[in-house]
Amino acid sequence: MSHGTGNRSSDFKQLGRITHPRIERDESPVTPPDTPWDVVIVGAGAAGLFCAGIAGQRGLRVLLLDHSDKVAEKIRISGGGRANFSNRDLDLQAPHKHFISANPHFCRSALSRYTPADFVGLVTRHGIPFHEKHKGQLFCDRSADDLVQMLLREADAGGVQRWQPCKVIAVRCGADTLYTLDTDRGSVSTRSLVVATGGLSIPKIGATDWGHRLAKQFGLRLVDTRPGLVPLTFDGEGWAPYASLAGMALPVGISTGAGAARGAFVEDLLFTHRGLSGPAVLQISSYWKPGTPIQLDLAPGTDLPAALLHAKATSRRRVANELAALVPSRLADAWVQSDADWQRPVAEVSNKALQRLADRLARWELVPTGTEGYRKAEVTLGGVDTRDLSSRTLESKQPGLYFIGEVVDVTGWLGGYNFQWAWSSAHACAMALPAPQSNDRSSSSINRPT
Ligand SMILES: Cc1cc2nc3c(=O)[nH]c(=O)nc-3n(C[C@H](O)[C@H](O)[C@H](O)COP(=O)(O)OP(=O)(O)OC[C@H]3O[C@@H](n4cnc5c(N)ncnc54)[C@H](O)[C@@H]3O)c2cc1C
Repeated sequence: MSHGTGNRSSDFKQLGRITHPRIERDESPVTPPDTPWDVVIVGAGAAGLFCAGIAGQRGLRVLLLDHSDKVAEKIRISGGGRANFSNRDLDLQAPHKHFISANPHFCRSALSRYTPADFVGLVTRHGIPFHEKHKGQLFCDRSADDLVQMLLREADAGGVQRWQPCKVIAVRCGADTLYTLDTDRGSVSTRSLVVATGGLSIPKIGATDWGHRLAKQFGLRLVDTRPGLVPLTFDGEGWAPYASLAGMALPVGISTGAGAARGAFVEDLLFTHRGLSGPAVLQISSYWKPGTPIQLDLAPGTDLPAALLHAKATSRRRVANELAALVPSRLADAWVQSDADWQRPVAEVSNKALQRLADRLARWELVPTGTEGYRKAEVTLGGVDTRDLSSRTLESKQPGLYFIGEVVDVTGWLGGYNFQWAWSSAHACAMALPAPQSNDRSSSSINRPT
């Protein structure tokens, strides 16, 4: 384990590839109470905690505020309690392909400068055991709490002050771009304000739209928000024929949309009493637009027409029995019920009816009625418009105001991509925060609207 008090800062430098010299803090024994903080971070979740630790270890005076009494509750409940904290399959040549945003290339800069390998390095140095599941997904072996404790140790190593619970009542910015935050613990001022309040999903553990409202207050644009990585719902009556399949899981091809807005995945699908769920549906939900269909291929990678014609030429069994060699037998039994032509020995079925069966399985089209909403969603699509943020620093066009993590209009696929965005955007911001007394913000390359 590398988190002994003596060497923390150098560990972190190695992790973050910090090239800036550490800023020497004014170590005068008493800091006057009204001295501005170098940075105040609102939101002690994945992105806020990580940013605080790096900024603190760079030598900045950091105050981290959260309205909850606990930190990083979403990390704790993520990945079934084991946090799918990153993904080894993230394509470093094209990291944006795993993310959804109105500005798809925005996330490239941060993701390519702080990669899954960098975060794995940190986790490894903290001696946290982890494992890889399918498609590059990395999970803690023991508990997501290992990650939370790691982030807290890193914040402590950076001398980060934490105020929790602490409610921010109002934010003002003076002519000198010094921000004043009125909180229920008094007023504080800061040169840099980082908003890391996350998305809207799971309000019962503290999600709010505070970050979105603050962006509006400072004239920044927002991309409409909607729940993502969320189960889809279906019309109760229309779903009745499939309700008996509840509990069945199978790999499927799933797709929706067209052109640049098209999403397509091969993942596991789960039939439920009310509709469809499982990774396939969560993934496609982030691309799905209300009123439009989703397409399912229930036997991906199988040439169904050829397999059924072969069965017709060689078998005396019923269609359902033959089909059961290609898809789960419960599905085969339920499927043939919808057409009398399919409820016979396969040798007696016309080629046309077999082709219809193959088409129906490979191109099952359904129109969901909605989603289970923010109560069940893992993420929020949309958020602070990236046209008003620098992709290099995450600073907004309002100088000294930064947005990181899920509050930004960058949403990852299922599989650890959302945490990776939290780490990468936090790192980019923490490394760019100006040194104390420096008013030089000229290095910001803000993507101003064209
Ligand atoms: C059930 C579930 C499972 C998930 N599993 C995974 C997974 O395995 N892998 C993955 O990559 N992603 C997963 N995610 C998504 C992931 O948790 C988020 O994308 C990630 O936590 C975003 O980090 P963040 O720091 O931006 O926001 P958060 O981690 O949500 O942190 C935001 C913080 O801001 C605080 N806050 C909010 N409003 C205010 C306010 N007004 N004042 C002060 N503080 C405020 C909150 O209390 C919270 O501490 C999951 C999400 C859910 C809901």
